[in-house]
Amino acid sequence: MTRVAVVTGGASGIGRATVQLLEAKGVAVGVLDRNGAEPVDVSDQAAVEVGVAKIREALGPIDIVVNAAGISSTGRLEDETYVAEWERAIAINLTGSMHVVRACLTDLLRKGEGRIVNLASTEGLGSARSLGPYSVSKHAVVGFTRSLAVDLGRSGVTANCVCPGATLTGMTAPIPEADRNSWARRHVPAGRYAAPAEIAYVIVALTEPEASFVNGAIIPVDGGQTAMSM
Ligand code: NAD
Repeated sequence: MTRVAVVTGGASGIGRATVQLLEAKGVAVGVLDRNGAEPVDVSDQAAVEVGVAKIREALGPIDIVVNAAGISSTGRLEDETYVAEWERAIAINLTGSMHVVRACLTDLLRKGEGRIVNLASTEGLGSARSLGPYSVSKHAVVGFTRSLAVDLGRSGVTANCVCPGATLTGMTAPIPEADRNSWARRHVPAGRYAAPAEIAYVIVALTEPEASFVNGAIIPVDGGQTAMSM
């Protein structure tokens, strides 16, 4: 039986690499992204419900949810834009993930084998300077994942969280290459940014039927960044 996945943020970066790997494994994938032929903003509950219903109609009930849609959001507390940045980060990175899980919940529960993978960040485990809104939203994604793991644990549905380190995607493309390289040499034992496929590998492993006892795990995929003392 072909499994069906919903991948948010599947139009770019880590989400796109996840779509490619899932499809290579024979999973039927529906994408929810604000970019593409049928844009869906994950922070819009009604739009998410319609988008998930369309995927269900086209592919069948949902077995896997990967919440990879996300935005970067920076700012210092004293900035006038801080509140707006905060609300934007929470609405998309956190609340959007919740809308997608809720829209898929009945499907995920039906066989007791559903798989949820949320994307946080190394910024969900600590915080860099002036990244407050983003970091807070990603810490909350870690908390959301743990609450799902606890609340759904008896059902056989698993919820896990992948915390990528710096990865070469649309999100980090604006950073000049020389700055990326010098930052990675200082902060990442691997000495480089990840390729999106290196993150997708772990995401997809968590969606496998055999990953049935991995629940509530918060997994850094960061080339050793969070293992290193300053
Ligand atoms: P990306 O910008 O390449 O892709 C993000 C995708 O999300 C895009 O296709 C975008 O259109 C979509 N998106 C953004 N807001 C949306 C919305 N409101 N509704 C629907 N779709 C929306 O970025 P990426 O690096 O692939 O990011 C994927 C996830 O990984 C994000 O949650 C991000 O926070 C996380 N992450 C990225 C890095 C990194 O270094 N790139 C590091 C840690 C965590």
